[in-house]
Amino acid sequence: MKVIVLGSGVIGVTCAYQLAVAGHDVTVLDRQPAAALETSYGNAGEVSPGYSAPWAGPGVPLKAIKWLLMQHRPLVIRPHLDLAFIRWGLAMLRNCTAERYEVNKGRMVRLAEYSRDCLVELRAQTGIRYDERMQGTLQLFRTQAQLDGTAADIAVLQRYGVRYELLDMDGCIRHEPALARTREKFVGGLLLPGDETGDCFKFTQNLAALAAQRGVQFRYGTQIKRLLLSGKQIDGVVTDAGTLKADAYLVALGSHSPLLLKPLGVRIPVYPVKGYSITVPITDASGAPESTVMDETHKVAVTRLGDRIRVGGTAELAGYTLKLHDARRQTLEHVVTDLFPHGGDVSRAEFWCGLRPMTPDGTPVLGATRIPKLFLATGHGTLGWTMAAGTGRVMADVIGGGTPQIDMAGLTVDRYPNAYA
Ligand SMILES: Cc1cc2nc3c(=O)[nH]c(=O)nc-3n(C[C@H](O)[C@H](O)[C@H](O)COP(=O)(O)OP(=O)(O)OC[C@H]3O[C@@H](n4cnc5c(N)ncnc54)[C@H](O)[C@@H]3O)c2cc1C
Repeated sequence: MKVIVLGSGVIGVTCAYQLAVAGHDVTVLDRQPAAALETSYGNAGEVSPGYSAPWAGPGVPLKAIKWLLMQHRPLVIRPHLDLAFIRWGLAMLRNCTAERYEVNKGRMVRLAEYSRDCLVELRAQTGIRYDERMQGTLQLFRTQAQLDGTAADIAVLQRYGVRYELLDMDGCIRHEPALARTREKFVGGLLLPGDETGDCFKFTQNLAALAAQRGVQFRYGTQIKRLLLSGKQIDGVVTDAGTLKADAYLVALGSHSPLLLKPLGVRIPVYPVKGYSITVPITDASGAPESTVMDETHKVAVTRLGDRIRVGGTAELAGYTLKLHDARRQTLEHVVTDLFPHGGDVSRAEFWCGLRPMTPDGTPVLGATRIPKLFLATGHGTLGWTMAAGTGRVMADVIGGGTPQIDMAGLTVDRYPNAYA
């Protein structure tokens, strides 16, 4: 079968690779000159099934007000008149109940855990390298109140069978020795030893090379303009390099997916939530983190990626702009220099931002649509790197007419009652 994959982020590339493994004739289109140059470029590097949870949860609206008022704020809202934003924001609020949280979390964990297993297999099969480490995630608490407040989180981890360790200050230092120099900054932490870390950009580029060896054609520098609808089915993709035809079209355009789908009458509630990162060259490895340290106060992740420290965070609601705001850089610099003052040289850091393709329920939109030949793999939000390997396998199964190894209930576009105009 001939399949066109639209988008060469981590999601498009993992899908293309698995489709090629399944024997399909695959072409990938992307406007960029190489794979993973948009949101998959500079993320925080956590492969974290243990933290797979929706942002929308009970108590979040109140917490959001507190976050908006902090000096180094994890949440920024730039008011703008945009109907899609208003609809998305209201849907997000509707998902902030205990009941919705449970449903959404269950769906996310299902995909994230499957993804972890698929990533382990992919590594074993291909030997792919990407500055990967398997040393877990440490959520670091600066206050006793944060440490005391872990009971609810731990109950959730226990319910989903996620391994964890509650650590006091010395326990945190045993896990992350560089924190010995800043022990006065925190009181304890919650370790999820099953989580992994790695450079999503390197992974995607290396997997794209492996896919190319299997015959996948990558047509970079190609602007996708629209999908052609003929009768009730898709009959081609119009690009600035002409119209291309296939037996199946897979939309994996991250935050830009809804823009291409809207003219077809398919409405998916995916909205761009901007995040920032800095990538700091390590100058003293003994002062750098070993794995990921998640600063609970600032909601910033500090991750070791080879000879660099990746520091990522912030949720900025401002539409599709990629403007880099210096205040966000200051927050990221503050966190890394506060916790790891001797690790790296922040003056030489690369400053970056990307648009998380967020759904209001935190769960991506996968699988077939009601339009023949049209498939979706998008809306992975905060966890696209974590969920990529499983998404690739699921999509290869669905497009090939097989049955995915996980239950697709609640993962497809059919969960949105107003998806089809
Ligand atoms: C600051 C930050 C930190 C993050 N940290 C983590 C983390 O630690 N762990 C984790 O699991 N996830 C994390 N994420 C989320 C993760 O990075 C995303 O979910 C993931 O990269 C989305 O991948 P994607 O392939 O769907 O989208 P993208 O990587 O954006 O790929 C979409 C592709 O489509 C192409 N495209 C779009 N429109 C067109 C068009 N019209 N024509 C041609 N090409 C087009 C783009 O060029 C792009 O290459 C983070 C995100 C951010 C911003």
